[in-house]
Amino acid sequence: MAQIVINNLKKEFGDFTAVRESSFTIEDGEFFMLLGPSGCGKTTTLRMIAGLELPTSGEIYLDGEEISQRPPSERDIAFVFQMFALYPHMNVRRNISYPLVSQGMSRAAVKAKVAEVARILGIEDILDRPVGGLSGGDRQRVALGRAIVREPKAFMMDEPLGALDAEFREHMAEELRALHDRMGATTVYVTHDQLEAMQMGDKIVVMNNAVVEQFGTPQEIYDKPATMFVADFIGSPSMNFLSFDGQIGAGANEVDMQGASFGIPQAREGFAGQMALGVRPEHIHLADDAPYRGEVVATEYLGTTQIVTLTTAGGEVKARVPSGQVAQPGDTVGMTFDPATITLFERGSGRALR
Ligand code: ATP
Repeated sequence: MAQIVINNLKKEFGDFTAVRESSFTIEDGEFFMLLGPSGCGKTTTLRMIAGLELPTSGEIYLDGEEISQRPPSERDIAFVFQMFALYPHMNVRRNISYPLVSQGMSRAAVKAKVAEVARILGIEDILDRPVGGLSGGDRQRVALGRAIVREPKAFMMDEPLGALDAEFREHMAEELRALHDRMGATTVYVTHDQLEAMQMGDKIVVMNNAVVEQFGTPQEIYDKPATMFVADFIGSPSMNFLSFDGQIGAGANEVDMQGASFGIPQAREGFAGQMALGVRPEHIHLADDAPYRGEVVATEYLGTTQIVTLTTAGGEVKARVPSGQVAQPGDTVGMTFDPATITLFERGSGRALR
């Protein structure tokens, strides 16, 4: 069991705040992603969970026990720094058994444990090889073996695939996820790659500027972004934002925008001011007779779909539509959006109007 609860966690370095009061819960066995742009505080959060950094305030609970001030050695959490960090002068078996030998485990117990880990990782046949001559994938498996052999309660991984090229990275990502599914150990994984987070994560925390913007499943984060930052950071091409000045009437489920009215999902009643209507490219349909119109400025062919870029009164819009649909630069076309897929934001705060 390893449930990790983060409560109002904060970290200051001098007068710089790297992590503002953050709260979220990592359930036992989850593959949990800390996602955000460079410098937003992901690594600092991970290091506080592992005990490599002490929080300025707030608490971390591991299975209900407060661990925020304990040293790393008393947390039973493995930090996988970099998949390729191995002892080059040792063979595979010694690299994996090293943490157990240094704990003083008996030779027979070490042997059994290494055999088990090698079987899980599928590296039984390379146990006696020097690590120097191994392929990148095998080196990565050995590094993982060294982390899992201690059977920690949870794994912390900081951009473990960051140094790999795109194709190999995707392959190792699948392998890591499959390994996690076999072992079921709670894993917290830092990445700045939204696609990696969406593909691998059970849950995602999106951070920006030391703040947790949103926490949820990949689908919740994609379909119901809490802020314009999240909406923009997740998805490619990212969500469109149409700016307008408006008011949401009592019980209304429509907004009026430059003469065209749109159905909207339940938004905050009574709000008046600058809004942004957020709609993903795949939720825009081109329709000749729709009243909200734009001019096509570019098209990008992607096989079965194409990305059509339009200028509209509310700003530039990218629509993902079937390739067969004719749209030429210079054409004026109408657009419709499915109300259920729209998110309305307050422009000033960037927060969703719910
Ligand atoms: P990256 O992907 O670039 O590592 P990150 O989201 O992991 O980004 P952190 O490494 O947590 O970000 O850093 C957050 C901020 O805190 C950065 O501005 C960084 O410069 C600062 N920071 C981190 N560690 C220290 C430290 N020991 N002393 C001072 N500032 C620090």
